[in-house]
Amino acid sequence: MSSEEPIYVTQPFLPPLEEFIPYLEKIWSSRVLTNNGPFHRELEQAQCRYLGIEHISLFSNGTMALVTALQALRITGEVITTPYSFVATSHALLWNGIKPVFVDIEPNSFNLDPSLIEAAITPQTTAILPVHCYGRPCNTDAIQRIADNYNLKVIYDASHAFGVSDDGGSILRHGDLSVLSFHATKVFNTFEGGAIVCSDARTKSRIDHLKNFGYVDELTVVAPGINGKMSEFNAALGLLQLKYIDRVLAERQRIDRAYRVQLDDIPGIRFFPVPEVRIGNHAYFPILVGPEYPLSRDELNDRLKQHNIHARRYFYPLISEFPMYRGLPSACQENLPKASEIASRVLCLPIYPALDEQEQDRISRLIRSFMQKVSFGPSQYP
Ligand SMILES: *Cc1c(COP(=O)(O)O)cnc(C)c1O
Repeated sequence: MSSEEPIYVTQPFLPPLEEFIPYLEKIWSSRVLTNNGPFHRELEQAQCRYLGIEHISLFSNGTMALVTALQALRITGEVITTPYSFVATSHALLWNGIKPVFVDIEPNSFNLDPSLIEAAITPQTTAILPVHCYGRPCNTDAIQRIADNYNLKVIYDASHAFGVSDDGGSILRHGDLSVLSFHATKVFNTFEGGAIVCSDARTKSRIDHLKNFGYVDELTVVAPGINGKMSEFNAALGLLQLKYIDRVLAERQRIDRAYRVQLDDIPGIRFFPVPEVRIGNHAYFPILVGPEYPLSRDELNDRLKQHNIHARRYFYPLISEFPMYRGLPSACQENLPKASEIASRVLCLPIYPALDEQEQDRISRLIRSFMQKVSFGPSQYP
């Protein structure tokens, strides 16, 4: 084991503690802890401004927001989705009694492949649930065209996509709804938290009722809602985090750029081209480990671990390989050749604002050195 400090795939950004104390003092004196309190309302407004969107409804976490988004649009039957995501994407369907139908991903974006969606539509299909994987936008135009042709709803799992904009503005404007996660591991965190983004006030109001047990006023309950509310503590932290988000994104961009230089020209190590968006968020730095590299993906991961560097295999296994999904006809490997291939080769390297140059250098140099050891190691000179 290495004696060096462990480096994890991510480390949550936190603002200076003393800056949070005044927010806590306000909460302690007002005794408003939750239920659409002042910080909750202020964060909703501040995020609409920052993200350039019309309406947002804050949640206790992204999974509750996904479950509620499906309820809000009364989605039933079958929903077309990607196997290449965090398991919560499909779990939200199962929690609503909906059957996930897995469709393969594009090898260049790792997002749902629009050209394969039509063949998966049946009379039971009611919606498409794509993921902007790693914060890289889906082919939203192609997905919307199919949705319009077949009268389907589109809900984007935008958990990775906080702050991402294309030429038309925030990518959260696409589809009927977009869902965000503010989990500790995400680009923007409120410890735990999430949100649904929508484009009209009526939908926002339905979502607000659903996350508060269906209450409209003191005596009126209009739907079998759930408790998905964000607390004042989390909302206050979110307000403070928003002050730092541009710095966080700039640091992530610095690290992304440095990896591209440091890992360039290592045979068998591939990474995404710079995304064609106006503003990206550099949420992850995935590499693909190909056959030209002397170690397999798992061997590389193990070797890094021996040096106390903890990369992560996002997304392996595929959602479709977990026991509650693998019996589905669409879950078989022959239906998902691209996703299966990528899941077996992908490794997400550490990227977070506090990762300094020396640490990043150490990671990149190790990846390079494993290659040289095999090529020029003593085993070749018996
Ligand atoms: C993190 C994540 C979620 C779940 O969000 P939580 O806030 O942890 O509940 C859902 N989908 C994707 C793609 C995620 O990365």
